[in-house]
Amino acid sequence: MATVTLDKVNKVYENGFHAIHDLDLNIADKEFLVLVGPSGCGKSTALRMIAGLETVTGGEMRIGDKVVNDVEPKDRDIAMVFQNYALYPHMSVYDNIGFALKLAKVPKEEIDRRVRQASKILELDANLDRKPGQLSGGQRQRVAMGRAIVRQPAAFLMDEPLSNLDAKLRVQMRAEIAGLQRELGVTTVYVTHDQVEAMTMGDRVAVLKDGYLQQVDTPQNLYDRPDNVFVGAFIGSPSMNLYEGVVAFDGEGASVQLGSQSLRLDASSVASRPGLKAHDGKPVIVGIRPEDFEDAAMIDHDTTGKQLTSTVSLIEALGSEIMVHFDLDARRVDSGDPDAIEEQDKAANSVGRFHPRSRVRMRDDVTIAVSTENMHFFDFGDHQAIR
Ligand code: ATP
Repeated sequence: MATVTLDKVNKVYENGFHAIHDLDLNIADKEFLVLVGPSGCGKSTALRMIAGLETVTGGEMRIGDKVVNDVEPKDRDIAMVFQNYALYPHMSVYDNIGFALKLAKVPKEEIDRRVRQASKILELDANLDRKPGQLSGGQRQRVAMGRAIVRQPAAFLMDEPLSNLDAKLRVQMRAEIAGLQRELGVTTVYVTHDQVEAMTMGDRVAVLKDGYLQQVDTPQNLYDRPDNVFVGAFIGSPSMNLYEGVVAFDGEGASVQLGSQSLRLDASSVASRPGLKAHDGKPVIVGIRPEDFEDAAMIDHDTTGKQLTSTVSLIEALGSEIMVHFDLDARRVDSGDPDAIEEQDKAANSVGRFHPRSRVRMRDDVTIAVSTENMHFFDFGDHQAIR
């Protein structure tokens, strides 16, 4: 068991491309840490440096107390699970799982004990004689996991291990892997571009963009208290709505101007964000999560001052909730996440997650209540959270 520590780690590829900038991460013993971010943000590079498959060009990498910058992958006491599993097609499940141990000249009886133990945990006992080609996608994934488990490593490193599975199996396997990791208590670093996978699996999640660490925290804290616009928009689906707004203070609190409409912030909301005062009268970025918009007709308390009006341009009824798209005349802000921009292109500039009993229809004029106490504010210049 071990900690994994990245201390101002940098990666400059041979062509001069600077893929990782001063990355600091302290991964605790037994922790499940997820590295997440859009394509090209450097998550695989970071993982491959921990594995020793890429050189570290600056900073220090430690596994446990040992500096491993110059240690060969095979001597790092880690086991990797890749997205393509890299199983040997001509070998049985049993031999695939035990192969690394055989190479390491572990005695036959010990190999047998560990393979049987792992296959029991993974419910592969009945398939030990089969070849990978005779297994389902999920079973193949488990064989790849089995191969990592039998090595009893200090850490598991996983690079998008579920990306080849269909959506339903992915949900099942993500619960299995998270459960297994907890059971085995092995420090794990897991790479994915899927923020739902990151949020549901990680003890903590590190969000990367363009080779820079944006924030590392528990899933709930990332969601509730994003440090900047990018994290706010990247975590959560549909994405946080982002607008240019202006905050104006008065005797009882403050209000936020969003285009031609205004929302009231009560005194307690203002008190919990002392940093907002410095932005009085200036443009800020306002973030509102879809669930903080609601059909005002569904709310039985008074929401005066905390309402917006618009016209419904699209409705997606999902059974347990309704996604209601509408336009506000406030300027929309780009979060820097390519997927969020795509999402924004196909619909109106705002989306609310309404109660399923809401009666709103396409093209209706609608009054929308806003949970202003949950609004997010970011600096217009550097995109950092205002608190
Ligand atoms: P994806 O989700 O698409 O796999 P990623 O976040 O894992 O993306 P990396 O594979 O770590 O991203 O790549 C980070 C950046 O480094 C990318 O811009 C990529 O083009 C670049 N890169 C990767 N390998 C090399 C290399 N050998 N030489 C130069 N640049 C590289």
